[in-house]
Amino acid sequence: MANEQLMGKIVSLAKRRGFVYQGSEIYGGLAGTWDYGPFGHELRSNIERLWWKRFVSDRDDMYGISSSIIMPEPVWQASGHLQGFTDPMTECEKCKRRFRVDLLEDRVTCPECGGKLGTEKTFNLLFPIEMGSAVGGTVTAYLRGEVAQGMFVNFKNIIDSFHPKLPFGIAQIGKAFRNEINPRDFLFRVREFDLMEFEYFIRENEWETQFEYWRGEMWKWIDEIGLSRDHVHELEVSAEDRAHYSKRTIDFEYDFPFGRKELYGLAYRTDYDLKKHTEASGVDLTYRDESTGETFIPHVIEPTFGAGRTVFAVLYEHYREDELGGEKRAYLALPPVLAPVKVAVFPLLKNKPELVKKAREVYQAVRKEIPQTAWDDNGNIGKRYRRQDEIGTPACVTIDFDTLEDDAVTVRDRDTGAQERISIGELTAYLKRTIVNEALL
Ligand code: ATP
Repeated sequence: MANEQLMGKIVSLAKRRGFVYQGSEIYGGLAGTWDYGPFGHELRSNIERLWWKRFVSDRDDMYGISSSIIMPEPVWQASGHLQGFTDPMTECEKCKRRFRVDLLEDRVTCPECGGKLGTEKTFNLLFPIEMGSAVGGTVTAYLRGEVAQGMFVNFKNIIDSFHPKLPFGIAQIGKAFRNEINPRDFLFRVREFDLMEFEYFIRENEWETQFEYWRGEMWKWIDEIGLSRDHVHELEVSAEDRAHYSKRTIDFEYDFPFGRKELYGLAYRTDYDLKKHTEASGVDLTYRDESTGETFIPHVIEPTFGAGRTVFAVLYEHYREDELGGEKRAYLALPPVLAPVKVAVFPLLKNKPELVKKAREVYQAVRKEIPQTAWDDNGNIGKRYRRQDEIGTPACVTIDFDTLEDDAVTVRDRDTGAQERISIGELTAYLKRTIVNEALL
């Protein structure tokens, strides 16, 4: 199947099945914004929970925070974003459409209407907002263009409250905003997105070993969410393409349907940010080694993971089409830990009260231990299977007339369609052991 065709199918499945909708769609849609529906929200939350567990709660050296989205101008002045967070832009003289110059193959002719492209300008990606001020008038603040500054401005707070020893990290999952010139390609290039990120504070002389360590950890994460290593590629970013604060950057690129593009980034930000904030705020952001008395500004390694791009890559990676029992079907072969619904429980027929009653009991019992368990009694059983396959539900449990006699149910596996009879007493333990990964519920 051509990649564009596959992309079309994924976008349409995402909308039809309640994963992702165009933002403000009933008003024609707002470019570069997408709304997550119930299954998209669950999928993204599962990704974020798994990330948080791996990189924050399972470790002793991470401090998780949640900082403000709105930050004042001096933060962005000091961080260099007011000057350096720009993309080169050009506007078509004929149709007035704007393009990001570095993403154009032909920098002279408009790819949309064939008109002549104008001169190159720099375009700042930060979203300014006017905030009401206590002394009248307004002050300019900004929606954060990256979450990292939230970690840097809280560095001293974390030091004062927790007295961590180097190396340690400050982590956060949250929204970032960029006024992208050309939002496009579904969740790939948007104006409002979620980042999972940490700043890992180190001594300067260990930056190379720490960089290598985190590079390895990022690959482990890629394995955990089921992206094939063959579809992810490292790109050593050249000095001229690196962000203003970085001394070394590796992009982890994924084979998206429209080409190989950045999924994640790993940057060595040196002591750039803490130094700049010390100078600009006048607050001392040095670290003091208790055993030697030495004081210095730590350096930083920053692994960054876009949550929206992860959702996109995961949907694309796990989309399958095959024939099962002589019928064509599409399904998401999601790793169970990511599936928005882990188990779907249904009565064979919804108009038989004795089946519904029994099925409800099974449903309540399973969902007590497997939270993302759903009830489904719409349409016939074939339709229910197809619907659950499309959203990637690993296991379906059917309560039929035999259940009333033998207290056993049919469990169907999403990928193979294989069915097994399991007694109700064993069911939850069986599901946890075989289909749903117990450790990650
Ligand atoms: P690009 O070159 O694609 O514009 P960038 O190099 O500016 O990206 P970074 O600053 O490295 O991106 O951003 C960190 C992470 O944030 C990226 O790896 C990506 O996952 C995510 N990201 C960046 N911009 C966007 C966007 N417009 N929409 C969705 N995710 C984004």
